Amino acid sequence: MTLLEKRTKINTNSELFTEELANSSHELNFAAQKILNQERLSYEEGCKLIRTQEIFALGHLANYVRERKAYELAIKKGFDISTAQKRMKQVWWNTNLHLNPTNICIGSCDFCSFARKPNQEGAYTMSIPEAIDRVVLARAEGATEVHIVGGLNPKCLIEYYGDLIKAIKQEVPDIHVKAFTAVEIDFFQQFARNNNGQKLTYEEIFDALIAAGLDSMPGGGAEIFSRQVRDEMCPDKIDASLWVQIHQIAHSKGLKTNATMLAGIGEEPEERVEHLDILRKAQDESLAKFNSGFQTFIPLSCHYEGNDLLERGVKPLTGFDQLKNIAVSRIMLDNFDNIKAYWIQLGEKMAQIALSFGANDLDGTVKAERITFAAGARKRSLAENTLIDLIEGASLEAIERDTIYNPIELSKHKIANANN
Ligand code: SF4
Repeated sequence: MTLLEKRTKINTNSELFTEELANSSHELNFAAQKILNQERLSYEEGCKLIRTQEIFALGHLANYVRERKAYELAIKKGFDISTAQKRMKQVWWNTNLHLNPTNICIGSCDFCSFARKPNQEGAYTMSIPEAIDRVVLARAEGATEVHIVGGLNPKCLIEYYGDLIKAIKQEVPDIHVKAFTAVEIDFFQQFARNNNGQKLTYEEIFDALIAAGLDSMPGGGAEIFSRQVRDEMCPDKIDASLWVQIHQIAHSKGLKTNATMLAGIGEEPEERVEHLDILRKAQDESLAKFNSGFQTFIPLSCHYEGNDLLERGVKPLTGFDQLKNIAVSRIMLDNFDNIKAYWIQLGEKMAQIALSFGANDLDGTVKAERITFAAGARKRSLAENTLIDLIEGASLEAIERDTIYNPIELSKHKIANANN
């Protein structure tokens, strides 16, 4: 019996389409055959996918991978077949707050419109009480997660952030703290000393932050891993191998993390596939060694207000590029459970379409995002109902989740309101 014959049928239109494609002479038949046989696509095959203009075929393939992944994950978790079939139609969203405590940054990433030098107009650093007020307000509005990232500010190091997280947990004990890119962790490590004046290791940095209340890590700072693009756009930033190493230390401590890719910063499409390949290998290692790993991959699109990338000849992503990034990541990252269509970056309408191209998560309400907003994003917050309407408008079912992908039937805030 071949693998193809052994495969459990999920009986969706995307599966039917994939089977037809596999048996045709279409240019993507190789991908359909491998997907049906549950074989991993190679880097070279990923490059063919990222260059194709067969956008509908690519979307069907990615949608089939999304459906089958949801089905298999549900079965693996012990749910019955009818629940697994339901999961194929579900898209995650959450109620979250983005907290960017400081925009002062010693970094110099050419694509960044958020960072300010200390005395520059618009530079800010939140006091801890000010940050706490925002978290408390967001909690009252139902937020289950606070997502904290900021600039590389020598006045906001592990002491400031340790105090901030402790204060958050004191005021709102059950909120999930997802915080710090690998770039920030590396920055903290450069300055952190123990009582004997010795430099702390990355492990010790994580131990201190976890003791303060850190629950998971977001996926920023990855940008594009290609050395050439990094040298051009963000030469001071940690390289791919250190970025991966820091995430794997987090995984070894039991933390879940995410991974991003910032496209539209002058990279070739093949460099995006190389980025995916690095993440796939890292995830293989983490899953084999630790009981943790990456939860979600988030393909981001650069925005250009406040930077000079367009004047320098960088080509912005097209709608095709954005959808291909979603679809190819869904197909290539066979060891990632979730692909996020981050509506702030894609715009609401494109994010909704991305749900038919392999994405299974729309991110959340966000409330007060500043980083992409500084570069020209039009909105920094979405109402819960708008998120739900976007998902239902794509003929899918909206499921609110917590940060680690447990469904929330009714958030505590809503329960409190319902009881009043
Ligand atoms: S992307 Fe991050 S590290 Fe780079 S300049 Fe902006 S805030 Fe600083």
